[in-house]
Amino acid sequence: MNTKTENAEHTEAMKNVQSAHREKMATKKSAERGLFLLITGDGKGKSTSAFGTVIRALGWGHKVGVVQYVKGNWKTGERQFFQRFPDLVTWHTMGQGFTWDTQDREQDIAASKAAWEISREMLASGEYDLVVLDELNIVLRYDYLLVEDVLEGIMARHERTSVMVTGRDAKDLLRDKADLITEMTPIRHPFEAGIKAKRGIDY
Ligand code: ATP
Ligand code: MG
Repeated sequence: MNTKTENAEHTEAMKNVQSAHREKMATKKSAERGLFLLITGDGKGKSTSAFGTVIRALGWGHKVGVVQYVKGNWKTGERQFFQRFPDLVTWHTMGQGFTWDTQDREQDIAASKAAWEISREMLASGEYDLVVLDELNIVLRYDYLLVEDVLEGIMARHERTSVMVTGRDAKDLLRDKADLITEMTPIRHPFEAGIKAKRGIDY
């Protein structure tokens, strides 16, 4: 087959792909209300996926709320970066360190509840296009919050607001209602080779 025929065949094939794609898209509806996105699994990339989405939203001038559960007041690259956008990003950190640092269950429960009240208000307020609840799955796994309450707050969010929940071991009740679920699959992690968390990569 000569090059000319090959090119013509390629053009024809691409036209077919394009029209099939257009037909498929015509059946889809645009999301009029905010979506519920759930990022879970044991592999690395859950929080970075959420912060990547925050960047995408900010590119459109959207308003974003972030509540970081679990992480405490650790200095992270993401927090330092998003603090540059105070009119678009509202940031709340739960305040305590990791549970195995504090070893104070009552204190962790109180901090989780306070963070959830802020999250609930953000979701209901109608002021945000996107609310990220980072590591919320972890406090739910420890039963620091009632999953039923959290689900109710998520489903009662303002219609303009998308919500993104991250963390391992997402509860089934959340999975049942999420519009999107992604499970990160670990294949290899430098931690297994004895390499510690790295600035700019892990935090
Ligand atoms: P990231 O914030 O890098 O996107 P993540 O949100 O998916 O990671 P978390 O469960 O929140 O992961 O854990 C945060 C920290 O644990 C990060 O420093 C990350 O590199 C590390 N980590 C994530 N997955 C693994 C793994 N499979 N083995 C060891 N360490 C991990
Ligand atoms: Mg994370």
